[in-house]
Amino acid sequence: MRVAIVGTGYVGIVTGVCLAHRGHDVICVDLDRSKVDRINAGEAPIHEVGLPERLKSVAGRRLRATTDLKAAVAASEVTLIAVGTPFAGGAIDLQFIEQSARDIGRALRGTTDYHVVVVRSTVVPGTTEGLVRRALEEESGRQSGAGFGLGMNPEFLTEGQAIEDFESQDRIVIGGIDARSCAAIDALYEGFDGVPRVQANPATAEMIKYASNALLATAISFTNEMANLAGTLGNIDIVNVMRGVHLSRYLTRAEPGKAPWTAPLANFLMAGCGYGGSCLPKDVKALASAGASVGSPMRLLETVEAINTAQPARLVALLRDEMPDLKGRRVTVLGLAFKQDTDDVRETPARPVVEQLLAAGAAVTVYDPIAGGQAETLFGKGRVQVAGSLQASLAEAEAVILITRWAEFERVPQLLAGRSPAPLLVDGRRMIEPGAVSRYAGIGLGAA
Ligand code: NAD
Repeated sequence: MRVAIVGTGYVGIVTGVCLAHRGHDVICVDLDRSKVDRINAGEAPIHEVGLPERLKSVAGRRLRATTDLKAAVAASEVTLIAVGTPFAGGAIDLQFIEQSARDIGRALRGTTDYHVVVVRSTVVPGTTEGLVRRALEEESGRQSGAGFGLGMNPEFLTEGQAIEDFESQDRIVIGGIDARSCAAIDALYEGFDGVPRVQANPATAEMIKYASNALLATAISFTNEMANLAGTLGNIDIVNVMRGVHLSRYLTRAEPGKAPWTAPLANFLMAGCGYGGSCLPKDVKALASAGASVGSPMRLLETVEAINTAQPARLVALLRDEMPDLKGRRVTVLGLAFKQDTDDVRETPARPVVEQLLAAGAAVTVYDPIAGGQAETLFGKGRVQVAGSLQASLAEAEAVILITRWAEFERVPQLLAGRSPAPLLVDGRRMIEPGAVSRYAGIGLGAA
């Protein structure tokens, strides 16, 4: 198929490169000229495992990028909308969605070929058949269902494993306004034999995406609430508590003669300093706000969000239990990315932690193997020291706060060994064995 994709962020570029790899002809569209140039030069605009190799193999052949949306739509049968949908001013901000829909609508004006527009961004239920349909119809002068098709096909990728997620999809959700629109979305995924497909109306497809993310966020905040109680009571280690929970037959299947199999949901039932990134925080808030606006308040999700917002401060509190006055103390923060294997720092728990340390007068050094270059954007010029290596980041530290589960941080105990006085390690991910360093404090344990 000939496919245009509007927006070349995490979702747009991964979808584009993977569809091209599977034989579709893809044109990626972005307002950002530098991203377009990089893509055309075969350079990945984001850090994502496997993306550079795959992009190189399709750039200039089955995939190209442009800032000219009108030409891209004219050359395609299907246009996917993959622009950002931030949370702003107490609700989802749909300005980029509306702008793209209007631009696509204008591109369709005067054309006669049937074209299908598909929303791939995460949007609150009702957006595709409401705002998007209206914008397309007004600008194109054509009727949805007759002049053009319309649908919603949510993206479920996890940053850091996005290519793998695309190739081994667990489900394909097809939310079309009619059979012809559904068929066009279905055709995009030709070759994904055996992957379960859910066909629904666009609002249901939109809701599937939110319900999926809300479940994961709830699992995280549930565990963090348990962890905070364990830490407060003392003498209980949340890691062991959750090990016991994970072994429940609802999460772990143990069949005679076979290795036990634990459901991946258990990864979200682990204590930490809270969820971040470009999806869970904004999606939970957007859905709760959408519920409230139609008179169906979402108390559970509001609490999930409140627990998450408060969680990074727990790390600073653990530090202060040992070091009440942080003025002038040298604290190293390990990890800026909201999770390992990505350079995405949106809504990272590192941000509130560093801000609270700076407000308390600490001298902060940060280190992240991939996202370190974004420290200045996050915190402003000169407010924190940015270390070039893990070893350098620890050299002067009196305390270390671990935020991101980068594999490299497993070397922290080895690098701190023998130091006198021993720096305190505050483990925000419970990835280091408490006994592996001389001074340890962790979420859901308190000081060990
Ligand atoms: P992003 O912010 O990384 O990228 C959006 C891109 O769209 C930017 O490059 C921007 O320049 C471009 N853009 C904005 N308006 C445009 C316009 N009118 N015309 C052309 N280009 C335009 O966003 P993202 O992380 O890829 O997320 C996109 C959507 O997908 C969001 O709704 C998000 O919630 C959803 N989503 C994201 C992920 C993820 O892991 N990042 C996973 C699933 C779903």
